[in-house]
Parts: sequence; structure tokens; C-alpha cells
Amino acid sequence: MKAMVMDKPGQPLRLADIPMPSCRAGQLLVKVHACAVCRTDLHVVDGELTGAKLPLVPGHEIVGEVVEKGEDADEFEIGDRVGIPWLGWTCGTCQYCKSGQENLCDRPKFTGYTLDGGYAEYTVAYAGFCFRIPKMYGDAEAAPLLCAGLIGYRSLRMTGEAQRLGIYGFGAAAHLVAQVARYQARRVFAFTRPGDRAAQGLAISLGAVWAGDSTTPPPEPLDAAIIFAPVGDLVPIALRAVRKGGRVVCGGIHMSDIPSFPYELLWHEKTVCSVANLTRQDGLEFFQLAPRVPVRSKVEIYQLAEANRALENLRAGRLQGAAVLLL
Ligand SMILES: [Zn+2]
Ligand SMILES: [Zn+2]
Repeated sequence: MKAMVMDKPGQPLRLADIPMPSCRAGQLLVKVHACAVCRTDLHVVDGELTGAKLPLVPGHEIVGEVVEKGEDADEFEIGDRVGIPWLGWTCGTCQYCKSGQENLCDRPKFTGYTLDGGYAEYTVAYAGFCFRIPKMYGDAEAAPLLCAGLIGYRSLRMTGEAQRLGIYGFGAAAHLVAQVARYQARRVFAFTRPGDRAAQGLAISLGAVWAGDSTTPPPEPLDAAIIFAPVGDLVPIALRAVRKGGRVVCGGIHMSDIPSFPYELLWHEKTVCSVANLTRQDGLEFFQLAPRVPVRSKVEIYQLAEANRALENLRAGRLQGAAVLLL
């Protein structure tokens, strides 16, 4: 089968013919229809996230069709459409797994990182970690929901009841989260790279009440902010923008160093936290909610062999919405 393979970090992916994976107990063999390109893929390919399996097939926002099942993969039938997310497997026995925090599992496996992912014609996945995709979504449109949507939703939930919500970095996750936030009657303030009028226009079109440069303070204090951009400098900026008791949620897996800042910015019970991975419960909740909003994803379509170009456009901030490899 054809796949885009990472031999080692820091170099372009290679289009290769590799053996078809075979499914073991509990796993599904899935014919990939679409796989979205996530910023995390970029962090893996660039080597900012270390510890990837090598060689690796990246990609963890996969929509496809079950073509074969291993023993005990009872959750799905052959022919079913499935979504495969970042959380590929958890141990089920560590203290985190046993307390509803499987996103923090001590021995997790992640799709497109420590397991081969969806930049390929076929992939295998543990059936218990796959999701059913609501019928209203086409394959390409559904793919970004599997990470940008799910982890964006988890980030949004971490802001509690915040009404005035800042979002820093208006890419794949933000454009989905903004729709959910608006549905929940929150007011979204979108911050983009200075001068990125296209992203600011997208934010307004999705219901943001204000959009501007990340260097500009918001017109009124925020109750909470989510930072999706991998830019540590935004943490003190966002802390300055939230009110007393406000919360700043860092929604990405990697961020450049956070500069030191005066304690005054944290004073008055402001908090900073990160969001790590997802739980299966997040996925079930999000896929119930998404069609009701309804969350629509804006995608740019690429062929499998164009994965490097999609990653490059993501790196350069040239995408509006999410890039999706359509097979
Ligand atoms: Zn565990
Ligand atoms: Zn992701």
C-alpha cells in the first residue's frame, strides 16, 4: 500500500510502498478515506515532539471504513465507517485510567506517533478507541473533528462557564470551537498573528464578536482564554487580557518557552493550565453535540502524496481551517 513515511525527524516525508498492516486481537483494519493534518503532526515531523516510532506513518484524524476485524473487535462491523483519533490505546489499569483520566494514562499509545497513523491507504486501530461519525458529515469534513474538534472541545470545557472567551490562534481547532462557543451563547474574541486579516475574517464569519491582532488587548476583559497557537509569548499576554479569577487554557501539545512574567499577572486567582490528549468520553460527548450546533469544518483538500505541501502550508500559516488528505 502507499503511505507517506517519516524516516527521521527534520526531513520531508517519503512516499513509499509499504506492507499492508495486519490487525491483531481487538483491532480493526481500516481503509483510509480521509486524514486531516494536525499541528501535532508538524511537531512530530519537525522533531519538537520526541519519542515517535520510526519509521512512522503520521496522521491521527482518520476517517475510513472497516475492512477486516481482529478477534474481539466487537465494537464495529465490516463496512462500518469509523473515526480514529489521537488516543490510540490506554492501559486501563493505572491510577489515571481508573479515575476517568485516561488522557493522562501512564502507558498510552498515540495514533500517528507511537502507532502508525492515517497518511496511508490502510491503517489499524484498536476498536475500543474508535468513534462512530455522525451521518451528516462527509469523510473530509469529519476528519478535522477527530482532533481539532475533540481536543478543542476539551479545551473549551476547561474554560468553565466563561462568557467572554478569548481564542489565540485561529486555525483548525479554533474555527470549530468558535462554533460550539457561539452555540453555547458565549462571546468569542479571536486573536490572530498580527495582520492576518483572512483568519480574522474567518473568525467574524463564524460568529466571533471581535477579531484582532494578538498584540492588541481585547476591548473588554475576558473571562477565559484558550491558546491554540504554539507560542509561549502568548501566555502572559492572555493572562493580562483575562479578568480577576480568569483562566488561561493552553490547548496544544507543544509550545515555545513561556517568558518570565511579573507575579502581578497571575495575582487575583488567575490560573494557567494545559489540556492533554482526550478521553473517549470527550469524543462521545463531542460527536453528540457537533451535529446539533451544527459544527461545520472548513477544509482544504490534498492528495496523499501532497502531505509535505500540506504540512508546509500549515507551518507558514497559509491555511484557512484544516488541511485534509483525501484518498
Ligand atoms: Zn493507564
Ligand atoms: Zn491533533
